[in-house]
Amino acid sequence: MTYVVNEACIGEKDLSCIDVCPVDCIYEIDEMVVIAPDECIDCSLCEPVCPVDAITPAEGVPADQRPFIAINAAWGDGREEVERLLAEHRASSG
Ligand code: SF4
Repeated sequence: MTYVVNEACIGEKDLSCIDVCPVDCIYEIDEMVVIAPDECIDCSLCEPVCPVDAITPAEGVPADQRPFIAINAAWGDGREEVERLLAEHRASSG
């Protein structure tokens, strides 16, 4: 399992989650942060500190936010891939 940052982070990017993550697996891109799923240890510490409830367990990602599972996971392929998927999602969701 992993935790996932969803669209609510965009425009907020509070960064409290980065402060509490014990394994430093939350990474900042221009518009939001993402969680590297292969590094996350599922401690759940980030979830309650987010002021906009942008972080949920992967199983709890709302249906309309499912693309963010792949957007977070793309960190493993590099920042550019995260940005590309994010732009693609925005274009498709209008
Ligand atoms: Fe970091 Fe824990 Fe949140 Fe995973 S669940 S991103 S390890 S604070």
